[in-house]
Amino acid sequence: MINFRDLNAQYKALKNEIDTGIANVLESGSFIEGKQVRELESELAKYVGTKHCLTCANGTDALSLVLRAWNIGANDAVFVPNFTFFATAEAVSLEKATVVFVDVEESTFNISPESLENAIKAVIEEGELNPRVIISVDLFGLPSNYKEINKIAKKYNLLVLEDGAQGFGGDINGEKACSFADAATTSFFPAKPLGCYGDGGAIFTNDDNLNELIRSLKFHGKGDHKYNNVRIGVNSRLDTIQAAILLPKLKAFVDYECDDVNKVADRYLAKLNIQAKLPIVPANFTSSWAQFTLILDDNIDRTELQGKLSKSGIPTMIYYPITMHDQKPYKETKKYVDLSVSEMLSKRVLSIPIHPYLSEADQDMVIDELNKTIGIEV
Ligand SMILES: *Cc1c(COP(=O)(O)O)cnc(C)c1O
Repeated sequence: MINFRDLNAQYKALKNEIDTGIANVLESGSFIEGKQVRELESELAKYVGTKHCLTCANGTDALSLVLRAWNIGANDAVFVPNFTFFATAEAVSLEKATVVFVDVEESTFNISPESLENAIKAVIEEGELNPRVIISVDLFGLPSNYKEINKIAKKYNLLVLEDGAQGFGGDINGEKACSFADAATTSFFPAKPLGCYGDGGAIFTNDDNLNELIRSLKFHGKGDHKYNNVRIGVNSRLDTIQAAILLPKLKAFVDYECDDVNKVADRYLAKLNIQAKLPIVPANFTSSWAQFTLILDDNIDRTELQGKLSKSGIPTMIYYPITMHDQKPYKETKKYVDLSVSEMLSKRVLSIPIHPYLSEADQDMVIDELNKTIGIEV
């Protein structure tokens, strides 16, 4: 049986460092905002290449904290891809702003610059909402098209928030994901490219004022000390134990995991010859392969295929079976643009096992089984 992601293999590889790290926190008794948290923030900022990194309780809070710090609220429009994990839009709704769904590109699964500009124009023309923020999601590990997105943001005077929950570790021309926008967020949920052993998240920015404001917001709106509270905030912090777990995991991620998962992807791309579109990584882009997602040809019965693969010991997942606009809380949300690419994707995508610890033998099993069940006849 192949694992879709193998957190246990990773734990075995890093067991000594992780166990020692946890034991040190237990000995120190400093469970909240301990020194490992500061050290992790500094390592993360250095790797990503931003001036500041702030850890918090999870990736959803990270999005909310940035929106709150930007004073986004009622009557503000926030542009969100229609094909993403629910939390991207949920954070906007939690801040009482209006989500405007934008279609994605079939080739990259990421927000379509063309659809984005159409949505912005439609909102301006209607005149009911103030367009404020674009949230671009680096879906499945691949950075979005920031050259175009940032150009559009500048043209319409919008802020860009990079949701790098899945994109951590990707790059464009050597510049790392989570560094491309006014602010970026990531998640350390266990199955993400860089995961901890519970919930965790982080925010990245070069903006000193934003950094200071969010450091206050995430800690009950603290002022110059803990019991001087100058604004209404939240409690959203990363546990010291999670920081101690993330430190050796970050080192492994940077030293070899990101390269190793790319080797798996390269082998899939070279050897799969199937009735499906394989993921495309544009020139000068690197993916961190949070997922390896196929777009099955129209004639393939996805459920039947999943059943066959499962019987052969190959787990698959559907990210995502329902587009954002079709989720119950957003069904009545006004549609400003056509969302047909995301709707097509929700019916035809299939994600196959990928992680840095997937052996060549297991990769071959996935490749052989797919080539056998939905191969292209020659
Ligand atoms: C996982 C995820 C989030 C939320 O992160 P949590 O840490 O689970 O709150 C947000 N956006 C995307 C795209 C995600 O994949």
